[in-house]
Amino acid sequence: MRFTEFNFHPNLLEGIEASNYENATPVQEQVIPPIMAGKDVIASAQTGTGKTAAFLLPVMNGLLSNHVDGKVGALIIVPTRELAIQISQHMEGLSYFSNLSSIAIYGGNDAQSFVAEKKALQMGADIIVCTPGRMIAHLNMGYVNMKGLQYLVLDEADRMLDMGFQDDINKILQTLPAKRQNLLFSATMPQKIRQLAKKILHEPVEINIAISKPPEKIIQKAYVVYEPQKLPLIKKLLKETPYKNALIFCSRKQTVKQLTRELKHGGFTIAEIHSDLEQNERESVLSAFTAGRIPVLVATDILSRGIDIDTIDLVINYDVPGDGEDYVHRIGRTARAEADGAAFTLIGEKEQNKFAAIEQLLEKEVEKAPVPAEFGAAPQYNPRHRTGGNRNPQRKFYKGRPKSR
Ligand code: AMP
Repeated sequence: MRFTEFNFHPNLLEGIEASNYENATPVQEQVIPPIMAGKDVIASAQTGTGKTAAFLLPVMNGLLSNHVDGKVGALIIVPTRELAIQISQHMEGLSYFSNLSSIAIYGGNDAQSFVAEKKALQMGADIIVCTPGRMIAHLNMGYVNMKGLQYLVLDEADRMLDMGFQDDINKILQTLPAKRQNLLFSATMPQKIRQLAKKILHEPVEINIAISKPPEKIIQKAYVVYEPQKLPLIKKLLKETPYKNALIFCSRKQTVKQLTRELKHGGFTIAEIHSDLEQNERESVLSAFTAGRIPVLVATDILSRGIDIDTIDLVINYDVPGDGEDYVHRIGRTARAEADGAAFTLIGEKEQNKFAAIEQLLEKEVEKAPVPAEFGAAPQYNPRHRTGGNRNPQRKFYKGRPKSR
C-alpha cells in the first residue's frame, strides 16, 4: 500500500517522501486506518517493523488538522531516553514540511533543558515524547497542563512494566483528560499488558503483527564455548567477519567495561555504552558510531531496544541474554530496513540451558558453529547443562587471562 492512499495532509506526505518511504509496512497498513478513524488501538509489533511511523503518522496527521494553540496535542510515553530521542528524531524528519512543535522530555538533561521542558508542558506543544520518571518530576512541580490532550501513546509498554514504571504511568494517567484517543504498542502481550490495556483503552482495535521472532534475513549462529574462550573468539570474529558497524552486547556493565578495555588493548577502535555514562556522553558515542568513526560498540541491554542504526550489520552477544525477548531485541539491531545482518551468540558452558529456552521460544534451533581448533576443545552443546562445575579442560590453558566478568 502506498502512502498516497492514506489521505494524509500534503505537508505530511512531503515529509514521508523526504524520509524515502514509499510503501507502508504491514504494521503501518493495519494500524494507520483505525487510528485515523479515531479508534483506540492495541498493537503487538516489535522494533524494526516500522511501528514508530505507524503511530506517528496518523497522530501527526490528526494534529495538522486539529492543532490547538497552547495545548499538548499528543503524549508519547516510552521506557528509555534513547527511544525518546529516536522517536523525536524520527518525527523531525517526518514533520520537516509541517509546522508541528515537539519536544522530548527525558532524564539526565541539564537545567536549560528542564526549563524548555517546563515551558512546553505549561504552554503546550503538539507532540511530547517522555520517559515516565522525568514526566513525574515535572508533574510533582504542579504546572503540567494536559487539558485538551488528544492522543496518548504508550510505546514498548511491556518494557515499561518490566522496568517498574507501572506506578509512574498510573500517576501520569490521572492528569490526562478522560476523552482522548489511546494507542498502546508492545513487543509482547503478557497478562499484565492486557490488564493495563483494559484500564486505558476503550473498545480497542487489536492488531497482532509480531510474534516476537527475529527477521528471517538475520543470519544467526552460536558458539558453545568455555568462558575463557570468549575473548579470543570475539577478537577473531571481529577480525574475520566483514562489517560496517558491529554491536556487542553484554548483560552487565562491568562486563562491558572489561571487554571494551580488552578489545582496545587488542587494537580495535571501540567504545562502550551503559548506564554509567552521562546522557551527553552516550549521545556523542552513538553519533561517532553512527558516523562510522567508531566501528565497534560494546553495550548493555540499554541499547537492545529501539536503537535504529541502519549500518549495524553485525551483532555479537558476548553472553546469552536474560530471555527470548531480549535476544530478539538484541539481534534485531542488525538487518534494519532493507539491510542484511548477522548475529552471533557466545554461549558459555553454564548458559546452555538459557539459550535452549530461547530457541524454544523462537521455535528455531540456531546453528551451532564449530569453535576454531586453535582455541582448544570446546564443550559439546548440551541444552540441559546448568552448572558447569569444574570440568573445564581449558581452564589451565587460559589461566592468567583476565576473567571475562
Ligand atoms: P521502527 O520499527 O519504527 O523502529 O522502524 C524501523 C526502521 O524502518 C526505521 O529506520 C524507519 O525509518 C524505517 N521505516 C519505517 N517505515 C518505513 C517504510 N514505510 N518504508 C521504509 N522504511 C521505513
